[in-house]
Amino acid sequence: MLHRNVFVSWFIVGIEECSMSTKITIDGNEAAASVAFRASEVIAIYPITPSSNMGELADEWAAAGKPNLWGSVPRVVEMQSEGGAAGAVHGALQAGALATTFTASQGLLLMIPNMYKIAGELTPTVFHVAARALATHALSIFGEHSDVMSTRATGFALLASNSVQEAHDFAAIASAATLAGRVPVLHFFDGFRTSHEVAKIDFVTDDVLHALLPAERIAAQRARALSPERPVIRGTSQNPDVFFQAREAQNPWFDAFPTVVQQAMDDFAALTGRRYKLFDYVGAPDAERVIVIMGSGADTVEETVAHLTARGDKVGLLKVRLFRPFAPAALLAALPHSVRSLAVLDRCKEPGADGEPLFKDVMVALAEDQAGTAPHFAAMPRVIGGRYGLGSKEFNPAMVCAVFAELQQAAPRRRFTIGIEDDVTGLSLPWDAGFRTDAAASAFAAVFYGLGSDGTVSANKNSIKIIGDETALFAQGYFVYDSKKSGAMTVSHLRFGPQPIRSAYLTGEGDAKFVACHQPLFIEQHDVLAHAAPGAVFLLNASLPADKVWATLPAAMQRRMVEKKISFWVIDAYQVALDAGMGRRINTVMQTCFFAISGILPQDQAIAAIKRAVEKTYGRKGRRIAEQNYRAIDATVAALQRVDVPETLAAPDAAAGAVAIAAGLDAFTRRVTIPLIQGKGDALPVSLLPVDGTWPTSTARHEKRNLALEIPVWDEKLCTQCGKCVFVCPHSAIRAKIFPAERVGDAPATFKHVPARSKDYAPGTHMSYQVAPEDCTGCTLCVDVCPIRDKSNVSHKALNMAPQPPLRAQE
Ligand code: SF4
Ligand code: SF4
Repeated sequence: MLHRNVFVSWFIVGIEECSMSTKITIDGNEAAASVAFRASEVIAIYPITPSSNMGELADEWAAAGKPNLWGSVPRVVEMQSEGGAAGAVHGALQAGALATTFTASQGLLLMIPNMYKIAGELTPTVFHVAARALATHALSIFGEHSDVMSTRATGFALLASNSVQEAHDFAAIASAATLAGRVPVLHFFDGFRTSHEVAKIDFVTDDVLHALLPAERIAAQRARALSPERPVIRGTSQNPDVFFQAREAQNPWFDAFPTVVQQAMDDFAALTGRRYKLFDYVGAPDAERVIVIMGSGADTVEETVAHLTARGDKVGLLKVRLFRPFAPAALLAALPHSVRSLAVLDRCKEPGADGEPLFKDVMVALAEDQAGTAPHFAAMPRVIGGRYGLGSKEFNPAMVCAVFAELQQAAPRRRFTIGIEDDVTGLSLPWDAGFRTDAAASAFAAVFYGLGSDGTVSANKNSIKIIGDETALFAQGYFVYDSKKSGAMTVSHLRFGPQPIRSAYLTGEGDAKFVACHQPLFIEQHDVLAHAAPGAVFLLNASLPADKVWATLPAAMQRRMVEKKISFWVIDAYQVALDAGMGRRINTVMQTCFFAISGILPQDQAIAAIKRAVEKTYGRKGRRIAEQNYRAIDATVAALQRVDVPETLAAPDAAAGAVAIAAGLDAFTRRVTIPLIQGKGDALPVSLLPVDGTWPTSTARHEKRNLALEIPVWDEKLCTQCGKCVFVCPHSAIRAKIFPAERVGDAPATFKHVPARSKDYAPGTHMSYQVAPEDCTGCTLCVDVCPIRDKSNVSHKALNMAPQPPLRAQE
């Protein structure tokens, strides 16, 4: 019988309180797209990470015939680029349609010319942006606000969402405001941190959207359309005589727009109960130190402020919602009169500027207020500006504390960075990595290590949806991807608890009550138990039974388990999946283990929910795949085994995760490349990084990922030397070599080689097809493409997969 463990009682409250409500569990992209789709007639798309899912969902919904608010199916068109998408939106708007698009980063830059036109013609629309870094010294697919800040002169309003809930709500508020005020809106939220975070949120119903988008405002948009029935000309060329005046003629629209947005927020509050202001203040009513910020970092600051104010600290947070048009009076009105100092945090960098955009706007607002006749503050507060979170750099409560501490200094740094070590210009603030908030301690955190494309992330997304949908608990899922995506490590961070979760940061070391490693080879390369809290559960996918697995673990992992009193479970997930006919797809097996061990839901309820998720995910792909998953789920509980962890260890041993470093490496490889490979890039100081994005080449040879459980084995007798396997390998892990036969005299006996078949080679030339076991990912593409089969045994090809460990040892 499976043990219901210690977590059960913790969750039982949430299960009993569960009720049918309008709560849904979705990610930020879907939250925004859900509203955008229902509020649009034309949607022009072009995919770019991390916004692609918004366009893909819209396309999927339209293909399925899902209607918008008014009963018609939006026309979704994929264009040739983001420039084309913005142009298509511009055209649709000029025809009187309700139109939208989704983008990020360089894609947004391509839209800028059209954005000037759309705003210049006072055309209502909302662009939804998953904010991402711009390519500068290097490309980054990750989150920051540089792309959005590049559009601040276009005339679009800039409205920031800080969470998945807000991405949903502000999509609606933006749609209402733009129709009411004719100023187009760029609605943005943080790429990955919000766009890819799965959270349990309140759903904005069609009724709410209908109320926010009244027929008369839609009729007004229609009436402005270019139409042969009421001919006008728009988009003219103007000479110096009138261009300037015409630019100024629009001022009243932009001056009025903050009020329009606030009205839309108030209308939304009346309909849903969720209240927002242009600038929302949270914290001590008599705060002396305040952080000003927009985006997901605001939630992290809010969680930290709640922790600090509970201990009597006079600190606060000002969340900036509407960045353009900037509304200084609303900003000042939101701040307590007691404020003595402010730290304004920007998630972008303007090289050469004397401050980042939000910092400068806040500074000007305060300075102009001081110069007025009735200033808000008795004396000008001290204002400092800092950069944080560039390229999705971590921003957590410990870093928030460091900023508040800096504000308390007699002479704080006027410009600073937080989250890195800057040993070149000395701008960075130090932080105490051990700091934790009360909220972080009260939530249940779980961390899962998987391999890109092995299904771990989608299984965890399903898990968080199951917890969100089947219990009254709040739930959050966040997924750390390598930009190499498929074949790289993914780390899933799940949190749930009875209180709303504002932790927009990763699970800290020692904080996870459940750690799972879906890929057995990771335990050789990574310290997967670093996240484990004392008494945590560790679940390992391992091919050995419970009584054999302990002796095979790295010594440092054994030590951690003993020290932290870890409850250790194993399952041979690959075998369960294989027996069920699923090949190597272990996602539902590991997901079932998580629910079985944690006891978050009664076992029957959990299994039924997992099967429903399988039906939703795979049902359309045919009964066979769904049935295979059901078989795997049913077999999992019996295959799950608990491992006895000894009370003490016989002898301490070497550190875990130590990567063998070849002798004679150059200084750069040793100090930069190797730490990057070891996953320690966050700790590298500024001084070690190239200043202009120029890196040495040929360093991939140091990265031995060693991911494959099976690798191809060459049958030299069958092979026709067509070279297709070499051509198809995405990692160049299988290579063909030709050489004179006499050169292999000293080669090991296991080295296979045969005479080259092509007549292009001189007699006596030999050929070998060799696999680098630690570079191969086991994807099987080479085996699949190999055209040669053994006629007496058609399942045997000229390349065949075989277990990796003995082959690696042999190589
Ligand atoms: S299985 Fe074949 S194609 Fe895939 S990485 Fe390995 S050698 Fe390359
Ligand atoms: S694809 Fe098959 S037959 Fe062609 S070179 Fe590779 S192993 Fe030989």
